[in-house]
Formats: sequence, C-alpha cells, structure tokens
Amino acid sequence: MAAQIDLDKCNMCGGLTEPLCVEICPDVAIRVQDGRPVVTEFLCEDCNECGCVCPDHAITVPLAKVTF
Ligand code: SF4
Ligand code: SF4
Repeated sequence: MAAQIDLDKCNMCGGLTEPLCVEICPDVAIRVQDGRPVVTEFLCEDCNECGCVCPDHAITVPLAKVTF
C-alpha cells in the first residue's frame, strides 16, 4: 500500500506547484499531475508525514504500515 489521497477533500493547498504534501515527502513520492497530487506507490514508505501536514485531512496511510 501507499498513501491514499482523497481528491474530493484535497483543495490543493499551496497552489499547483508545491503543495505541502509534495514538499514534506522525504521520498519524493508525491507529484502534481494535471493539477492534482498523485502518489507514486513504489516510492512511498508509508511514513504518514504527508498525512500529518495536509490541512484538508485528505491523506490516509494504511495504519498497519505507519512508521512515523
Ligand atoms: S506516506 Fe510518507 S513516503 Fe508516502 S507519500 Fe506520504 S510523506 Fe511520502
Ligand atoms: S497536502 Fe492535502 S490539501 Fe495539500 S495538496 Fe496535498 S492532499 Fe491536497
């Protein structure tokens, strides 16, 4: 698994270029594509740092894997 982003909740904090989740991810696993954040699953280590900073609570990481 990897971080899951609920695009219905995400309001694209920080604009289209550098939202908080993209900025915080230590593994560069989130990028903006077509104006929405996208997780590259094989890069994500389920640390949940993105989930902690998301102001819209739009990101969840499967609990069993959370390491942070
Ligand atoms: S859970 Fe961690 S590694 Fe995965 S996308 Fe979020 S910040 Fe990046
Ligand atoms: S941190 Fe949350 S609100 Fe901001 S772009 Fe990422 S998912 Fe959307």
